[in-house]
Amino acid sequence: VDDSPPLRWIHSIDEIRGLVNAARGRGERVGLVPTMGALHDGHRSLLVRARGENDLVVATLFVNPLQFAPGEDFHRYPRTEQQDGELCAAVGVNAIFAPSVETMYPPASCTRVQVTGLEDRLCGRSRPGHFVGVATVVLKLFNIVPADVAYFGLKDFQQAKIIERMVADLNLPIAIRLCPTVREADGLAMSSRNRYLTVDERAQAVALYQSLQLARSLVAGGERSAERIRDRMRRTIESRPLARIDYVELVDPQTLEAAPEVTGPTVAAVAVRFGGARLIDNELLVP
Ligand code: AMP
Repeated sequence: VDDSPPLRWIHSIDEIRGLVNAARGRGERVGLVPTMGALHDGHRSLLVRARGENDLVVATLFVNPLQFAPGEDFHRYPRTEQQDGELCAAVGVNAIFAPSVETMYPPASCTRVQVTGLEDRLCGRSRPGHFVGVATVVLKLFNIVPADVAYFGLKDFQQAKIIERMVADLNLPIAIRLCPTVREADGLAMSSRNRYLTVDERAQAVALYQSLQLARSLVAGGERSAERIRDRMRRTIESRPLARIDYVELVDPQTLEAAPEVTGPTVAAVAVRFGGARLIDNELLVP
């Protein structure tokens, strides 16, 4: 018999806050996993880790309009609430907080969180305002769901660094855990946006991962020049006719500033468009 408590869907701020405060009042440890839904095995890995490390696990499911620019995919972003609920129930998540846009952003709301210096490079350059939207919603979720620990994926490396910085700078009483990227069998990083890919685009999308593996092997072979590594990565991606490179960068993992040489830990980060999908991936290079 299954004696695990049923998954609760919660839409109101007062209700989720009450549930979490009651748990903490009993001395329970609370883990939070923020998501935009359309859950896959990458999300599942965060939820499983949270389940193993906490008494109460809360997933949030909110497609945050503030982090989409006009013309981006907010309206067609996949929404699969029923399957998301099944995945969460199977992992043993206690509650899904799924607020409406009106609940999160009443008409008068206008406060924004900007993690300056980290938010305008890499993805921030082609998606202006994106990370202001991310930081704002994550701070709101931390305040609404006062958890002990929150889990984020390293697949969104810049996002993870921005959230770590925000937590440190604003003295937020929450621990951040970063989790490794979960991949498809051929290496493509799992993403809700992979559903946008046609069969041909999906086959060619492995180029992101291959370019990162190439960077790894070049560094392992003694190459230190970021320019030469980036050039080889670009050629790998451009060999796929459906790929449109947004950026190929080698950056310092803390500052996200361009690294001219791979003399210490360096993150290779790529963003590539395939048709209507913009895919990102990254890999830590250690000389
Ligand atoms: P999203 O729903 O895309 O906003 O992602 C919610 C969380 O899941 C973020 O912390 C992501 O970094 C993380 N995530 C997304 N894809 C993956 C993946 N393939 N592996 C690990 N974590 C992931």
